Amino acid sequence: MIKPGKMLREVLTSFFQKPATVLYPYVKVLMPDRFRGKIRFLATLCIGCKLCMRDCPTNCITITKVGDKRFQAEFDLDQCIYCAQCVDSCPKKALESTADYELAQLQRNKLKMIYHAEPPPPQAAAPIE
Ligand code: SF4
Ligand code: SF4
Repeated sequence: MIKPGKMLREVLTSFFQKPATVLYPYVKVLMPDRFRGKIRFLATLCIGCKLCMRDCPTNCITITKVGDKRFQAEFDLDQCIYCAQCVDSCPKKALESTADYELAQLQRNKLKMIYHAEPPPPQAAAPIE
């Protein structure tokens, strides 16, 4: 059993110490380097090889060709386990982990994240004859 004197000392010590917790969400916690948060897709770098789809352990990535050398990525964030295997598998560094961890949603369909392909380059004007 803790002696009353020792207990009182611990209470007073704790009273003047900084709290061990943070006032989230009023105070944001900075994530460490290499934190594996929400995945970002860089459409301009993607070549459509689909290695990310093949290696994803939860099958939550869909890469779709939407035009000439243009690809769209779709992620089911409710299935993603943020392992970053897709980031490691991508040969073109078109995927990266971000520090974004605030992903909670009330509706499941909002956890489907679509990164649209870049718009096609403008067509060169035909020469006037
Ligand atoms: S692995 Fe990279 S380059 Fe290949 S389809 Fe996925 S994002 Fe695109
Ligand atoms: S982080 Fe892991 S689970 Fe999420 S999309 Fe990438 S490979 Fe799949």
